[in-house]
Amino acid sequence: MQHIAIIGNGISGVTCARYIRKQNSDVKISIISGETSHFFSRTALMYIYMGHMKFEHTKPYEDSFWKKNGIELIHKYVTKVDTDNKSLLFEDDINLNYDKLILACGSKSNFFGWEGQDLKGVQGLYSFQDLQEMENNTTNVQHAVIVGGGLIGIEMAEMLRSRNIDVTFLVREGGFWRNVLAEQEAKLIERHIKEHHVELLMNTELDKIVDDGTGAVKSVITKDGKEIPCRFVGITAGVSPNISFLKDSKIETNRGILINEYFETNTADVYAIGDCAEFNTPVEGRRPLEQVWYTGRMHGQTLAQTICGTKTAYKPGPWFNSAKFFDIEYQNYGMIPADPAPNHEVFYWEDTTSKIALRANFDKASKKLIGLNVFGLRLRHELFDTWLKKGTSVEEVLVHLPDANFDPEFYKHYELDIINAYNQQYGTNLAPKKKSWKRILNNLKKLQNA
Ligand SMILES: Cc1cc2nc3c(=O)[nH]c(=O)nc-3n(C[C@H](O)[C@H](O)[C@H](O)COP(=O)(O)OP(=O)(O)OC[C@H]3O[C@@H](n4cnc5c(N)ncnc54)[C@H](O)[C@@H]3O)c2cc1C
Repeated sequence: MQHIAIIGNGISGVTCARYIRKQNSDVKISIISGETSHFFSRTALMYIYMGHMKFEHTKPYEDSFWKKNGIELIHKYVTKVDTDNKSLLFEDDINLNYDKLILACGSKSNFFGWEGQDLKGVQGLYSFQDLQEMENNTTNVQHAVIVGGGLIGIEMAEMLRSRNIDVTFLVREGGFWRNVLAEQEAKLIERHIKEHHVELLMNTELDKIVDDGTGAVKSVITKDGKEIPCRFVGITAGVSPNISFLKDSKIETNRGILINEYFETNTADVYAIGDCAEFNTPVEGRRPLEQVWYTGRMHGQTLAQTICGTKTAYKPGPWFNSAKFFDIEYQNYGMIPADPAPNHEVFYWEDTTSKIALRANFDKASKKLIGLNVFGLRLRHELFDTWLKKGTSVEEVLVHLPDANFDPEFYKHYELDIINAYNQQYGTNLAPKKKSWKRILNNLKKLQNA
């Protein structure tokens, strides 16, 4: 029986295993992870710390699921991959042979060699072990510093504030998540962070972390010479592929494991998916590395087709991402660069409460929607997928925005305010169309048949 070994029990590896098993009951599947014995939702780690969930609740499948589906779980670290002999070496010196190998080994937190980064109380946040360490490291801590203003940094700030720990947040750029967000949204999020009593220091870089004489952190010093006393330092300066165990192998890597559109590496029968994979030639409009949850799932689903005999290229469709900044939910459909491209026209609307906003980038000449960001509104992802794939105009999208609204009827709706702002800016006379379930279902059907 053919043996498919998957390194990584995250969303990409597990999705791939499930989709292989759905189509093929005649292969042996092993999922290997050194982190935890069972798959859990990494995006829910923060809720464990904040007391909203127990670890058990973050496991999407019952523990019995794996045996029932003939998927063997191996809870060990792989230290070496020998592609000549199709063999994996574990930390306990035991070998495992494979016929096909899927690398789904995820990311690790970036540390940039700062003085003091190995002191007790200094850590990143990626793994379940990081969460446990954070539990220990923050006991009786009154003041924490977070280094790096991105999505994991803001989650860490929320976690710490939930335990009334004072937080100073160092952000190197002049605006929050400014490499992704446009200036108005960066400002909106900055105001919101400050409302949560976080001290936000923009244009501020970490220089070094100071030892208290016992090997634990006492303070940090910024590049402009300011010393900030703290007993905990969260390093959230981005992530990078977790691939150091492959350095002696024949598998070609750059920042990640290099793959083509079929997730094939340079080595026969070895594939890579999820955060650790780097496309040699990315799909148009996409980046070489895609380090988000839903793309990991798409990678896993697509590769399962190839493994089961239907060679399938990765065709992800329009980009989508979602996240949360304290109480503000964020969704992004299509491409919205932080600073618009020359052919982009930008419509931006913000509610006076400053918690709800919408940005639409569209083509200047054709008015075709290029991307849309929303803050504090819940919209239907699938409809945006259809609209972006069809090349729908921004005006048609805005008119039909009620169809996309996910919020229950009794929530305040903003479509009229948004369209009025658009009319004012562009001298149009548009009006929102009443929500139509028939239209929504038709659009979704088109997407399914596409
Ligand atoms: C705190 C946090 C919040 C996040 N929130 C969001 C969010 O809101 N939305 C979103 O889209 N994304 C979010 N992400 C990112 C998202 O979780 C990742 O993109 C996704 O989990 C990557 O999945 P993966 O399957 O590629 O790898 P991973 O989930 O990283 O799984 C890889 C597994 O492989 C194991 N492994 C690696 N090397 C070896 C080895 N040599 N031997 C054995 N096992 C090994 C690792 O230990 C790990 O368990 C968040 C990430 C973090 C850390």
